[in-house]
Parts: sequence; C-alpha cells; structure tokens
Amino acid sequence: MQKLTHLYPETEINSFFYLLLEKLYGKRQIDLSLHPELRNKDWPDEAFRNALKELEQEKPIQYILGEAEFAGLTFMVNEHVLIPRPETEELALWILESLDENAPVGILDLGTGSGCIPITLAKRLTMAEVHGLDVSERALEIARGNAETLGVQVHFFNFDVLTTDSLEETYDVMVSNPPYVRWSEKEQMRGNVLKHEPELALFVDDADPLVFYRKIGRLGLSALRPNGMLFFEINENLAEQVSETLDRMSYQSISVRKDIYGKDRMIRAYKK
Ligand code: GLN
Repeated sequence: MQKLTHLYPETEINSFFYLLLEKLYGKRQIDLSLHPELRNKDWPDEAFRNALKELEQEKPIQYILGEAEFAGLTFMVNEHVLIPRPETEELALWILESLDENAPVGILDLGTGSGCIPITLAKRLTMAEVHGLDVSERALEIARGNAETLGVQVHFFNFDVLTTDSLEETYDVMVSNPPYVRWSEKEQMRGNVLKHEPELALFVDDADPLVFYRKIGRLGLSALRPNGMLFFEINENLAEQVSETLDRMSYQSISVRKDIYGKDRMIRAYKK
C-alpha cells in the first residue's frame, strides 16, 4: 500500500484496506484485532493485489468494490454512472423534508445515473410513483438493477432532455443533478474523478453551463402540477445564475441551500 501514499491521505488508505478486507475476505477490522494470526494468512492474494493496482491508477474504491453507500443504502456502481455523492444525499433528504411521507406524489429524476435519488425517495415515500430518466442506456441498466436489489418500484426510461420540448406525463416533483462542472474548472478536480468517472455526467460547456437548468426549468413549466417543486443540485459558483434563470421563468419561493462543506449546492423552486 506504500505506493498509494503520494495519492491519498493515510486515513483514506486505511479505510481502503478495511473495505477490501471485508469485500474480498468477509473480514472486519475487529476480526484482525481479535485474531492477529489472520494478518499472516494468505489473503493478500491476487484479488487484493489487483485492487491495489487499480487504486494506484486512481480508480475510485467504489468502482473497485462495485458499490457505494448513499442515504444508508448500498448501490451498485460502475464507470457508466457517477459515484453518488454526500451532497446529493442532502438533496434527496431536502426533497423528503419538503413532502408529506404518505402523499401520493409523482416524482421524476432527470439524469438519474445509478438511480440513487429516485430509489432513495421510493424507499421512503411508499405512496409515491417514482420515475427516472437518463440518456445513457448503460446507466439505466445499473439503475434498474439497483431498484430491483433494493426492492422498490421505479419506472426508468431512456430519454434525452436536451432534444425534447415536452414530457408526456405530469409530476409533483422534478429533480436533477445534471452535469454542471465547466471544462475550465477541470483542473481543480481530483485524478480519481477525472480519469474514471463519466464525463457525460460531469461536464458542460463554459459558453452555456446552465443548459440543463434552462431546459429542465422549461419542461417543468408544463410538466409540473400546480404547486409542484423543482429541485436541482448546482455548481457552487453558479447559484445566483440558476436562481435568476428560474426567477425569469416565474418560479416562486426560490431557495438555495448549502451542503455540508458550506458550499451553495442545491436549489428548490415552486411552480405557481
Ligand atoms: N459534484 C460532482 C463533482 O464535483 C459533480 C456532479 C455533477 O456534475 N452533477 O465531481
């Protein structure tokens, strides 16, 4: 694990070690403390060495393990979907806070990726009818697998929001964590994100970074039911611009929320 020290802080390397130990050998940290002889077993085998090699190539541990935690649930992930982020979990929790648990609401997640948002919502809102769309069929395969494994019904479908002018159904909540990182912001990102996560889910043109917000905002004007809500994850540097865009479309009670890191990260707006 020495080769990793120039890439990751020690605490992170330790957590990689224990995650791999559990995934590959079903052993936990406590097992090693209780049975020190296990340390000499032959488990640093090929599987372990391969995982180390992938870590050296800055492959995120979630892709190596094939899973990621989100809102207390375990989601299957691969390189066709973004790894669910803690800030996106906060967005999902904000939606839950804004709704009555037993309300029979219709929800649509646009650009669903692993399906972490709609599946989390479907788990908690038992009366809701939940949908998720994505332009990537490969992402949808993962999302469908996750819904099945986690035992919820979410209707996933393939759809490109940028090339459409209307949605067929109406919803009480529309939510999206669209691509919002400008290409010019790329240098500030870590190698594990840049080398392995899907660009399709991350980046937008500097010339028009709000393209998804404008488009989804417009779709919402007809697809949101009265008093329906729009939720977005946003680029921390573009909160004002997203607010203004929604304001111009006459959305109401627009509010921006910070994430756990203190950055402007999400927005909620009501349709009239
Ligand atoms: N928050 C993600 C990141 O910083 C970006 C997610 C997105 O573009 N929707 O890597």
